[in-house]
Amino acid sequence: MRALLSLLICAATYVGECSAFIASHSSPRQPSIIRAGNEEPANSSRVDDDSTVTNTNATGTWNPFSLAVLKLGFTEPAWTSSLNFQKASGRYLCANCGTPLFSSHGKFDSGSGWPSFWKTISSNRVELNREWDGRIECRCQSCRGHLGHVFSDGPQRGSLPSIELASVPETDPKIGYKEQGDCDSSFSRMPRYCINGLALRFEKDSE
Ligand code: FE
Repeated sequence: MRALLSLLICAATYVGECSAFIASHSSPRQPSIIRAGNEEPANSSRVDDDSTVTNTNATGTWNPFSLAVLKLGFTEPAWTSSLNFQKASGRYLCANCGTPLFSSHGKFDSGSGWPSFWKTISSNRVELNREWDGRIECRCQSCRGHLGHVFSDGPQRGSLPSIELASVPETDPKIGYKEQGDCDSSFSRMPRYCINGLALRFEKDSE
């Protein structure tokens, strides 16, 4: 009985969140605050507060599984996203608002079962929040959709192209741990952005 009650509460919460999301898309209003830092994202998505998302472009997702990740912070099961195996050159956009978040230049195979990146595509695209259990949550800085988490065990600097290391955005966290030497040592590690594929939309570069 208690399990059934919990299930009903979860279902009601999910329906409520989805209704709010749909309402925010069906009756757009002029927002007043831009949460992104110095740079306005490409699609001008804006946020009024923590719970209401407005989107000036019709790029939002209607996929209920994506909404469960973006709006409720669910985690997709490991190895279920085709983006794990995506190796083409392109950009990874927020599935909700379309803001470019990562690029194929910062993607690597972590073996974790979730699409992984060692750098973001540009400054002020991903917001970081410390959670109660110590993990660092990643959200889209434009629409505050939940993306995943960032950890300190990314690839070693020495395994990465120097030209890509030179373009790490200033707002990326310096949380890689040092195996030896200083933080610029080839043995020090970059961050590992562990991202739900359901929170992303891949845009392949034109050839
Ligand atoms: Fe977004």
